[in-house]
Amino acid sequence: MPIQLYNTLTRRVEPLVPLTPGKIRIYTCGLTVYDYGHIGNFRTFVGVDILQRFLAQQGLDVDSVMNITDVDDKMIARSREAGQELRAYADVYADAFLADMRRLRIQPARHIVRATDFIADMVAWIERLVASGHAYEREGSVYFRLASFPAYGRLSGKDLGGLQAGARVDVDEYEKEEARDFVLWKAWREGEPFWDSPWGKGRPGWHIECSVMAEKLLGTTLDIHAGGTDLIFPHHENEIAQVEPLTGAPFVRCWVHMEFLLVNGEKMSKRLGNFFTVRDLTAKGYAPSAIRYLLASVPYRRQLNFTLEGLDQAAAALARLRSFAERVRECENRPADGAANAELTAAAAAAAQGMTVALEDNLNTAQALAAIFELVRQGNTALDQGRVRAPEAAVLLRALAHFDQVFQVLAPEAPAETARPAAARIEALMAERAEARRARDFGRADALRQQLDAAGVLVEDIKGGGARWRWK
Ligand SMILES: [Zn+2]
Repeated sequence: MPIQLYNTLTRRVEPLVPLTPGKIRIYTCGLTVYDYGHIGNFRTFVGVDILQRFLAQQGLDVDSVMNITDVDDKMIARSREAGQELRAYADVYADAFLADMRRLRIQPARHIVRATDFIADMVAWIERLVASGHAYEREGSVYFRLASFPAYGRLSGKDLGGLQAGARVDVDEYEKEEARDFVLWKAWREGEPFWDSPWGKGRPGWHIECSVMAEKLLGTTLDIHAGGTDLIFPHHENEIAQVEPLTGAPFVRCWVHMEFLLVNGEKMSKRLGNFFTVRDLTAKGYAPSAIRYLLASVPYRRQLNFTLEGLDQAAAALARLRSFAERVRECENRPADGAANAELTAAAAAAAQGMTVALEDNLNTAQALAAIFELVRQGNTALDQGRVRAPEAAVLLRALAHFDQVFQVLAPEAPAETARPAAARIEALMAERAEARRARDFGRADALRQQLDAAGVLVEDIKGGGARWRWK
């Protein structure tokens, strides 16, 4: 049976039927790398990882793309504060993002792409939108003409009428025909990084990045486009508008949106002190695999209330799973005559089957975990009674491996796993800071020190000049 997924576009749970048999093309909106990703971001990425691993387990070839947005207003502002080139600033957080993904055992997308590597493609695409009347230039910026795409609003269910005159789809300070039109290309402003275009110096808007990279790498129609629910409007609505008028085909067959999480029952915010990155949690001693387990344990469309108590419980559940696996492994060499015990064989098959059925049902991860814990319960009883010998151990370990192919939580953390950026990157930041100090540009030196601090580095200035650093 094919997996059933909730499609935001049709508002129904539907079977996922690949456009090309045996293959799934999937695009996920990644992170804007102006800072570390928070656990809300990673809930989405863990959810997508569970989905992709399950599709692969079902025998599908998963062709995946994830973008990294490395140019946007916030990044430009922060890199200027730090006195750094945009690319160098983005590198620090892009590296950190990929390191966090690795620690959470998220399989990297087949293509991880950075927006600034595709500017020429974006310019070419915007030119086509202009030539076909779907976009227009004003004072060096280019806007999408919303009135030219009547299907706008289908994904989010927004009433286009509600977006008429005066309403704003995007917050921009530029001249437009209509306030609801959104920007494709932003004209250059003093002090900003820029790329050349037929409309003069400037840079792409955020929405066009995803449309162009998805179309270029995966083709006209994607099987799945995934992201957090906060991206449905306007980002994903705009992505559709930018693509469909030029291709004349549906951009995405199934839109999958992951619900965000609350922390202690409230929206996560730095002000409330309930804002967590993966690093914040590992610094408190939590294992990344426990974080992954917790994020994966609640079905993706349900709100997840993240608490440290919940994380403790996740760690305890994980310990129970691992100690079961350990006990079973100890029985691997217990000789036995004949086939495995029929009751345990049936229990293992039921667990594997139960997990598959649960995941096929719109990725019901909670039910999949329940199926595996039922096996742990029965298996522990059999272990207590000394009924697990080599044949039974093999059967139980196979079921656990089947589970872990998707959930990826059984292996304990390797001691060498680390989320640190490359030392070479730190050296480069140290050199920049030294240069700023020599030039008596203390504002810039301070900003660099803050950036080093955020990267987990302690900087010590040496009396008489120079500085050294070490990991905190
Ligand atoms: Zn996107």
